[in-house]
Amino acid sequence: MNTRTAIACAAALAALIPAVGAGATKRVAVPEIGSPTPVAVLTGNGAIHIEAKPRANEGLLAFAERLCGSARHSSAISRANGGLRRLKRGVRYRVPFDLLPAGSRQAAVRALLPKDQAAADGWRHRVSSSRRSRDAESLWSIAEWFTGSGENHRALRRANSLTSNVIRPGQTILVPRNILAEPFAGMLPAPLPRTADTTSGDEATPFVRYGSDGKGEYAAYRLKAGEALYSSVVMRFTGRLYAADVNELVRVIEQRNEIGDVRDLPVGYEVRIPRDLLAARYLPPNDRLRVEWESERAAGEQIENDVLALDLDGVTVVLDAGHGGRDIGAPVGGIWESNYVYDIMLRTRKVLESRTAATVVPTTREGSTFRIIDADVLPQSSGHAVLTNPPYRIDKAAVATNFRWYFANWIYQQKRKEGVDPGQVIFISIHADSLHHSLRGAMVYIPGLVGITNNYGKTGAPYTSRREVRSEPRVSFTRNERTTSKGLSRDLAEHMLASFRSSDLAIHHNGPIRDRIVRGRRAYVPAQLRFNRVPAKILLEVCNLGNEQDRRLIKTRVYRQRVAEAIVEGLLSYYGVPRDGSRRTLTAGGS
Ligand SMILES: [Zn+2]
Repeated sequence: MNTRTAIACAAALAALIPAVGAGATKRVAVPEIGSPTPVAVLTGNGAIHIEAKPRANEGLLAFAERLCGSARHSSAISRANGGLRRLKRGVRYRVPFDLLPAGSRQAAVRALLPKDQAAADGWRHRVSSSRRSRDAESLWSIAEWFTGSGENHRALRRANSLTSNVIRPGQTILVPRNILAEPFAGMLPAPLPRTADTTSGDEATPFVRYGSDGKGEYAAYRLKAGEALYSSVVMRFTGRLYAADVNELVRVIEQRNEIGDVRDLPVGYEVRIPRDLLAARYLPPNDRLRVEWESERAAGEQIENDVLALDLDGVTVVLDAGHGGRDIGAPVGGIWESNYVYDIMLRTRKVLESRTAATVVPTTREGSTFRIIDADVLPQSSGHAVLTNPPYRIDKAAVATNFRWYFANWIYQQKRKEGVDPGQVIFISIHADSLHHSLRGAMVYIPGLVGITNNYGKTGAPYTSRREVRSEPRVSFTRNERTTSKGLSRDLAEHMLASFRSSDLAIHHNGPIRDRIVRGRRAYVPAQLRFNRVPAKILLEVCNLGNEQDRRLIKTRVYRQRVAEAIVEGLLSYYGVPRDGSRRTLTAGGS
């Protein structure tokens, strides 16, 4: 796994570098610094210096005194220019940024990045709106400029809640204070004041503070204009999305804060959220669970798909429609989730088979053929079976779910025996949510590392009568395999959501990729992902049936077809050519 991970990293990093952007050097004249007019230079790795010409008869000491405010910097200037001893007229000499007085530093940065802003939480960089390729910026080059390392593009993606590496001309990108390189960090205003009982570290926190009072430990959040308790506090900080959970926690928080009428909360109202309700990522930075969460995230984020498959040639897609048979999934307003996601699965299969070279393996079928019903509102039907050998006519939801991963593992093993690369198999489970009514659009579950059960398997009827179970009754995974799988799945999820976004399909605006389902006080990874051997696997919630608008949409063929096409586009881009063409190319049948 290590070599593979290393290859994956190299490819992923290279993929971000635009044709000319990284290492791009910007040069701008800055008359404010003096005359002859010096030039400010921003190099690709985020270093800034100026280049200045000496005046007539100006020696090194006077040159240093004029530009740096002190003659004692002359030796540093000499070192920065190859150890020179004497200045020549008409030649530009390099003056390092850290030798410049504050006024000159600011003048240089303002000249180089006139639209940028130094803010309390970090540097706000305006992406160039020029369409000329020589000015092309990427998340990578921005990370290099402002943090000194392109690796930090991931931190930028997180800080700006981007689901892909794509940035738009004119967009503002926040570079958080804690990763900002010196020239910029030195220009930020003082951080927002914190009170004495603050336990947060350098990481930007949405909270005023962590503290404790007579009712226990809490995180204090100040409501902003237009924010409501259920969405901006409960759903955001506790990870709860189900209506019953959200409503219950709203009540808990109302009681704790002695709020009479939630509709009356003023802007700036300080809400105290019990610490034990916070999702791991919102716990204080020194909390054990937060530390675990950070390290797990860091490990997974080093991994991206490195397999190239134009037209999905050589790729096997295991397509799983959620529920079916007697398990109808979320029944909201007369819609059976099972029927609608099965229709989307059929449409996805058809697009894949007609427009790409992928092999599609559905996990379920209704009746004896795969037939798309040409209607907006679908009839309620319950004849689905999981396609194990022999098939399982879906009766119990939990049994059917287990057969889905047994079946996927069987397909994966067959493909591996044929010499197919692990990176060429994909598992997508298609569902539709029934969450709090305010949430709209798609989200993706990926296999997090919570609740790892090692060496898991089922015995007895109806399991042992199936070929897939007999061939591999138990599964187990190393932590490394889990980490790699989570990383690849996240990469797939990002491509999928980027594709939804560019198809104008709604996605959750807050945390659209989740590595666990949270229900009440329980957090778990759905079984069809948890025990599944396919490395890149996602559970895609195409929309929220709890939301009226989404419910109306899913009852149209046009929408379901658009979702199917977006899924295929997401797969094509996951296997697509990065800008520098650096991915592994697999020859047919090779591994
Ligand atoms: Zn479902």
